[in-house]
Amino acid sequence: MTKPEGWGDALFPRKIAACRKCDRLVAYCASFQQPENQKVPGFDYWAKPVPGFGDRKARLLIIGLAPGAHGANRTGRPFTGDGAGEVLYRALYRQGFSNRESVLDRQDGLLLNGVYITNAVKCVPPKNRPSGEEKQRCLPWLVDELDALKEVGVVLAMGKDAHDAYLRYLKERGVIQTVGAYRFGHSKVVRFEKDRRILVATYHFSRYNINTGVLTEEMVDALFEKLKKLL
Ligand code: SF4
Repeated sequence: MTKPEGWGDALFPRKIAACRKCDRLVAYCASFQQPENQKVPGFDYWAKPVPGFGDRKARLLIIGLAPGAHGANRTGRPFTGDGAGEVLYRALYRQGFSNRESVLDRQDGLLLNGVYITNAVKCVPPKNRPSGEEKQRCLPWLVDELDALKEVGVVLAMGKDAHDAYLRYLKERGVIQTVGAYRFGHSKVVRFEKDRRILVATYHFSRYNINTGVLTEEMVDALFEKLKKLL
């Protein structure tokens, strides 16, 4: 993959936040600056691409699909301010990966230890569905994050889109030949002959999955126990 000019190989939140490559998503993000589109009145919505966050020496990388409209798109930090984030950050705290059980916004003092969190697509998409072109256009940011996070040994992909985004990264790097050869499955562990990093998939920690019992907090804890053994 050819990187756009000026994109380096470090973690660069300001550059990501300034990205304007996708007209549709940039316009959708910006629409949340209008008070009539805000679910949390009086909150200064971020309404821009949301960079990753966490420990730059992380051994565990968590990848979601995209910012939630009134979660990360509001607060400017992945999984901060929505239902999925509540489940995720509670679990990280229980498992000793963070200093806070609940999170509020970018100024809440949250510190992650050994974990970095990002999204496959950095802008909130309408109906939570980025197009194939938008996913592909955003992939270089994920590629750069993965290249910069040199200590990562385990990648947790939250949902099939994140799973497939990581596989597209591996394809770009020549680790695998085809994305379609790998099936998504909850708690499934994949090792690759040409790469030391292990891929683990999980159902998304969405409020819908929790409310319908597709995923429980016990399953989340069991998943993190498994991840810790793999690290
Ligand atoms: S989705 Fe990614 S590539 Fe598109 S504008 Fe947002 S940050 Fe840029």
